[in-house]
Amino acid sequence: MPAHLIDGKAIAASIRERLKFDVDSFRLATNRTPKLTAVLVGNDPSSQVYVRNKEQACAKAGIASDIHRLAGSTTQAELLALIAGLNADPCVHGILVQLPLPKHIHETTVLDAINPLKDVDCFHPENVGLLTQGRPRFLPCTPHGVQVLLRESGVAVDGAHVVVLGRSEIVGKPISLMLVQKGETANATVTICHSRTKRLPEITRSADILIAAIGKPEFVTAEMVKPGAIVIDVGINRVDDRLIGDVAFGPVSAIASAITPVPGGVGPMTIAMLLENTLAAAKLQSVAPALLVNR
Ligand code: NDP
Repeated sequence: MPAHLIDGKAIAASIRERLKFDVDSFRLATNRTPKLTAVLVGNDPSSQVYVRNKEQACAKAGIASDIHRLAGSTTQAELLALIAGLNADPCVHGILVQLPLPKHIHETTVLDAINPLKDVDCFHPENVGLLTQGRPRFLPCTPHGVQVLLRESGVAVDGAHVVVLGRSEIVGKPISLMLVQKGETANATVTICHSRTKRLPEITRSADILIAAIGKPEFVTAEMVKPGAIVIDVGINRVDDRLIGDVAFGPVSAIASAITPVPGGVGPMTIAMLLENTLAAAKLQSVAPALLVNR
């Protein structure tokens, strides 16, 4: 029997519908509109598309947004000065610096400069520390999207063996941390794999839930998947103008019990979670504005 399709597009749409209502309620209660500011440095075509999509999603949810488009030649000092201004602006609740940055700019220095209360991507070490300790301020968008997909699809994560392919700071590491925590849609036994992992197919075949986030088109083949497993494909790879996941969708969907498509799986969830974090940031800053000072 072919795998059940986990429809990220539909799940994200219903989350965004609910969020619109929550944003309206927040505005009525506080007379403030949550605002996300994106910073885009250079002309990377994929980044341009991502930032535009985020802007459109904000508008649909009733969240204000703007984009600072900076030349690729912008210096690190100029970028840090812009971030300092956004940190100090009470109308800006979430700051998103679109990655990758040009090579002459040190990514970590820039991400660390964002006020942790406005860090809606959850990249700041303070927020990563809180996440690691199981008391998150924000949840990182893509990993949170994966967790919500599992929850909304009724997947039993408690006690399951989850194998995560990839150990990046953006996806692999945080999703592993989140699923191993005590809590709802968590309590998993997690194995993290990377480019130095030995006997990879043997490990992936032991997964009840396999999460692929390595950035290699169709890397995960049917031979690497246990029949009946749940497969979450985070990968987005542009091949001949098509978007392809990290999983060979056709053969793997013939043996998995459920699978996310690419596009239409994890991608739309990432944006929905970003909107949720922007509202959460606005709420946090409205109840504790003093926390923003001197950070
Ligand atoms: P990175 O390149 O930062 O990390 C890739 C990870 O995969 C690394 O840990 C790397 O190992 C591991 N890896 C690479 N090759 C292999 C291999 N042959 N065997 C095992 N592990 C391997 O990627 P990201 O985490 O940022 O992104 C992963 C994918 O997810 C990309 O396609 C990206 O476009 C997509 N993505 C999708 C999002 C969405 O919204 N759907 C959001 C973010 C990313 P090592 O550490 O040893 O180098």
